[in-house]
Amino acid sequence: MHIREGLTLVAGGAGFIGSHLCRALLENGHRVVCIDNLQSSRESNLMLLQDYGHFDFVEADITQPLPNQVMRRAGEFTRIYNLACAASPILYQINPEHTLLTSVLGTNRLLRLAEQSGARFLLASTSEVYGDSEVHPQQEDYRGHVNCTGPRACYDEGKRAAETLAFDYDRAGRSEIRVARIFNTYGPNMRIDDGRVISNLVCQALSGEPLTVYGDGSQTRSFCYVADTVDGLRKLMECPMPDLQPINIGNPEEITIKQLASALAAIIGHPLDLDYCDLPTDDPRRRRPDIARARELLGWQPTTPLREGLEMTLAWFARELKANYPDELVERRGHEPVLRSAMGEENFV
Ligand code: UDP
Repeated sequence: MHIREGLTLVAGGAGFIGSHLCRALLENGHRVVCIDNLQSSRESNLMLLQDYGHFDFVEADITQPLPNQVMRRAGEFTRIYNLACAASPILYQINPEHTLLTSVLGTNRLLRLAEQSGARFLLASTSEVYGDSEVHPQQEDYRGHVNCTGPRACYDEGKRAAETLAFDYDRAGRSEIRVARIFNTYGPNMRIDDGRVISNLVCQALSGEPLTVYGDGSQTRSFCYVADTVDGLRKLMECPMPDLQPINIGNPEEITIKQLASALAAIIGHPLDLDYCDLPTDDPRRRRPDIARARELLGWQPTTPLREGLEMTLAWFARELKANYPDELVERRGHEPVLRSAMGEENFV
């Protein structure tokens, strides 16, 4: 299918990954419309995007009929990215019904728009479709091990159903789709209260609090820096695909949560106390993407080493905390060197 140059819609464009995606598109000269309900996103992410002349923001929830500001431009869209959904377990479990419907109803509304527009559609799916995986690393043809009645199911099953919808649209010739299964991603533009492990541990380290390790910390994750994830998403959207298949987008460098805590301590330059807490229900034991498909079909792989990505993330959170919550910084408690090293001397004012 030939895709003409036109307007790009990013659902969830004010969120963590979505805001980086919008920025990358805008910097490459694309015209972008962002639709976001601001439920788990940051308004300050939007402020950065609004400096670009060819960016429009529509506040709306994709579980509801899409607003006229979007529908009247249907004929212009050539790309639709769907990144709209809270992705942090504590946030998506606050209103599980809404989480499930965001993926199912919301994806269906956006797929209909893609059909009407003739736009190519990319679904941001997730490694959570593999659940508490019985195979390791996770390849795309593994069908998963999800507890459909557990507290994570609203997210996992929602994304699985969204994948089903997207594949059915493509098979029926209604729109051309791409499905990215995104593994743990981290970096600037996350919320301080996001609740996921990197933002929690980084903010705790900067505030001089013990790091909350759930369970015994032996569970693993593989963390991908957000710029790499966005690069993978854009390549997946633009590359010709020989057949219909989902693609893992993640970094295969796997570490335990305890090792992550040690990596942060090494950057900060002194030991950090750990506070062991209960392991959440259905928390996957091991997670690492097999990215052979992405390497072969997209010519993509992550390039940011964990240490480098963590340093950039620490520096960003240090600036955020300093601007918004100065009293919480360890600087106030006589640990100025922590902040100084995290932010870099030039930023430390
Ligand atoms: N985790 C932790 N401390 C925290 C937050 C999370 O030890 O403060 C653990 C969590 O139990 C999981 C891993 O870190 O094993 C990644 O959790 P996250 O919420 O970031 O994402 P998930 O991969 O579980 O969706």
